[in-house]
Amino acid sequence: MDLSRRELLSASAAVLAGSRAAISVAAATELHPGARAEAAGQAGAPMILCWNENPYGPSPAARAAIAASIAGACRYPDDEVPQLVDMLARKEGVSSDRVVTGTGSGELLRALGWLNGRDRGEIIAAEPTYLELPDYAHHTGATLKFVAVDKQLRHDLPAMQAAVSNRTRAVYLCNPNNPTGTALGAKAIESFVHGMPDHVTTIIDEAYLDFADAPDVRTATGLIDTGKRVVVLRTFSKIHGMAGVRCGYAIARPEIIAEIAAARMTTPNIFAMRAARASLGDHSFLADCRSRILASRKRITSGLEQLGLAYAHPQGNFVFFDTGAPLARFTAFMKERNILVGRHFPPYDSWCRITIGTEPQVDAFLRGLQAFAGRRAARAA
Ligand code: PLP
Repeated sequence: MDLSRRELLSASAAVLAGSRAAISVAAATELHPGARAEAAGQAGAPMILCWNENPYGPSPAARAAIAASIAGACRYPDDEVPQLVDMLARKEGVSSDRVVTGTGSGELLRALGWLNGRDRGEIIAAEPTYLELPDYAHHTGATLKFVAVDKQLRHDLPAMQAAVSNRTRAVYLCNPNNPTGTALGAKAIESFVHGMPDHVTTIIDEAYLDFADAPDVRTATGLIDTGKRVVVLRTFSKIHGMAGVRCGYAIARPEIIAEIAAARMTTPNIFAMRAARASLGDHSFLADCRSRILASRKRITSGLEQLGLAYAHPQGNFVFFDTGAPLARFTAFMKERNILVGRHFPPYDSWCRITIGTEPQVDAFLRGLQAFAGRRAARAA
């Protein structure tokens, strides 16, 4: 991580003064030269709106924690794992033996892909969805069954349930779903889990849950002790803005946690663990990120409505919408404007996933969207 002297001084001073709560997201963006250059579309720095990152992060407290940990990096950090695990367990309202950390939730998704996919285990997932678990499971010999999302681009739970066979080992639910952004309500997930055979693990990936605002959308952590096999995954890469730091965790019954812990490849590094602990306490930063991203999400959906473009109901820090043209054309148009947008998600050949960046980036995106629609209208006339 490339912290300037000014960043270090400002972040450390703020923490020392106990004024973390007073540090706004604007200040965090101010501390981040990359975000500033991206926001202004300066000198070749593209606006990265393709990876579902949070450009405001890491929080000032997390930055200070990383900076203060450099001298300790010559030591193995194993003694600190319980501190983070205990903190996560308190946050989730479970005991510490129900939490395991990973180098990003991606590592834990892979571990679950291996555990459930080896020996030709069958895994069911939506199409389209986040593919880290299915892709990894495929390499380990899994049989994958993809079930198309419904007309609202939500997981089709009845169809997923109908796809379960006696060879099925796991069902992956991404809630909110990447790339569609749609989310399942708590009741629907609960009855789905209760309908699963006892040997099937329901894996619920809540990477984007902090951005959900639909009243019935909430964590499935309450289902881990209901007798069915349930794993919930969370990450520091999204609302915490720490995608480059690599820290995530899973919540499940102790025997499932032990299986995941045995299958993962690494443990988080000292910077990840200390930054995660600091970020968990930086409530004002997290609230500020959420309100800014939700406000920008509303601006984007209003812009799409004005242009008559369809979109899936967004509950993450991104919006999946129909550009009305082959995606490659839209991608190239945006690239000319120095904006990188999400990739192609078959079979949605004209749909684009746009990550919600900083406010100036959203301005630039909306201007680009309007220009693209204008050009299409002119061609059609
Ligand atoms: N889960 C979903 C749904 C994601 O979209 C991503 C990354 O984009 C991840 C998990 C991976 O997160 P991490 O950075 O914690 O590995």
